[in-house]
Amino acid sequence: MRFLLSLDEGTTSARAALYDAQGRRLALQSRPIACSYPQPGWVEQDALDIWNAQIEAARAVLAAHSVSASEVAAIGITNQRETTIVWDRATGQPVSPAIVWQCRRTAGFCADLAASSAAAAVTRKTGLVIDAYFSGSKLRWILDHVPGARSRALDGELLFGTVDSWLLWRLTNGASHSTDVSNASRTMLMDLASGEWDGDLLNLFDIPRAMLPRIIASSVEAGIAHASHLGAEIPICGIAGDQQAALFGQACVQPGLSKNTYGTGCFALMHTGARQPVSSHRLLATRAASFPSQPQFAIEGSIFIAGAAVQWLRDKLGLVPSAAATEAIASSVPDTGGVYFVPAFVGLGAPYWDASARGSLSGVTLATDTRHIVRATLESIAYQTRDLVQAMEADSGEPLRELRVDGGASANNCLMQFQADILGRPIVRPADTETTALGAAYLAGLAAGFFSSVSDVQAFWRAERTFEPLMNADRREELYAGWLRAVAQCRHHSAPPAC
Ligand code: ADP
Repeated sequence: MRFLLSLDEGTTSARAALYDAQGRRLALQSRPIACSYPQPGWVEQDALDIWNAQIEAARAVLAAHSVSASEVAAIGITNQRETTIVWDRATGQPVSPAIVWQCRRTAGFCADLAASSAAAAVTRKTGLVIDAYFSGSKLRWILDHVPGARSRALDGELLFGTVDSWLLWRLTNGASHSTDVSNASRTMLMDLASGEWDGDLLNLFDIPRAMLPRIIASSVEAGIAHASHLGAEIPICGIAGDQQAALFGQACVQPGLSKNTYGTGCFALMHTGARQPVSSHRLLATRAASFPSQPQFAIEGSIFIAGAAVQWLRDKLGLVPSAAATEAIASSVPDTGGVYFVPAFVGLGAPYWDASARGSLSGVTLATDTRHIVRATLESIAYQTRDLVQAMEADSGEPLRELRVDGGASANNCLMQFQADILGRPIVRPADTETTALGAAYLAGLAAGFFSSVSDVQAFWRAERTFEPLMNADRREELYAGWLRAVAQCRHHSAPPAC
């Protein structure tokens, strides 16, 4: 038993990675997953595509490294969160397309709920801001719109799961219908404090309890993968939502330790230990990856547009040949010359939650050229992160000691240096930035006895580079004040999109 297999099912691809006993990644295989957009604001995937892509990636990674399933000690699963699947318990066939986390089809229902007298209790119980993002309203939509679905669910014929649950059920040939507490905390149906489905929330969303998975810890044996899938039985011992898995993969397992993932958007999480956080700064309270009887919590903030703004420069404006080229272009000027870019293309996420904001470029003069705009785009990612970090520190009362980073845009040294400067805190980039897959492998390895303790996996974490803040405090605050003015200008621009 020399290996761990991590299944990392993301929005655009399913990946599988193989790790050894020192937590080193030996191989990675990826298979794409298509998304469809049947109406404005709607996002769907085929749940069978998700399963097929994931199992193919798993078989491919074993084959590429000539590893047989009998040499794998355990499987860990990590996944795009909130995406909602309902399937037939008897046949395993999904009853509708999976409703993807980005889908806004239930925005109207959520707006009504947010305006109702129930809103405060929902937020207090779940730690979430009421929004179409979470699974509860998506599940309700399926039950309301697929003919016969609600009565079949009441009769126990249909099952609900987020992607972790779906993969687990498939891998175990229907023997395990469970979800881990970090995924369950994103459904808006779970009481964050108890880690149990909440009867009042189930009534509010009109969800039959019979279709719900069992909520389990993130690092525990969840089931056994049937030999028909990978060639031998393998225990599945770790499950966590992608951002919580990344937090664990970054060895952020103590209060105050934080990570930020710079991908299409940014997801910043601060571990708060066994203490359930309450956000008074419009962040989310959520479950971190947890061991049995040891609930762990985190504060989370999400930015909708981060690396996506770089893609926009490349694909829509043609200003840069590649995302990576932004580093040299932005570094060729000392600053933006007073230009601010606020990439509020789809409104602003945490901590503003302003659907009416729209993107803006301000402070432009005749001296402004491409380099300043490229630099302002990278800087916007760092400013948005500072907005989140400030809110997190205010919520937690814990000062940030350093920010651990991962995700595609964390490769950009210019961005990382500016991030350190504008936060006034060190930025630490680890040697392995595939922290999501790594976190799931760690969780599985701990439950399987492959690793003996959390301190083992903490010891595997290695910094590749630390960016120390170099900017003086006056300059930092002057620049940040300019950002806040630019944000204020781009808000309340349009009516929220009708969904
Ligand atoms: P996701 O998991 O959300 O698909 P990734 O972590 O793979 O995202 O990161 C891809 C994103 O990061 C893209 O939006 C891309 O524009 C951006 N990106 C990738 N490399 C760089 C870079 N060197 N500099 C700036 N942005 C980058």
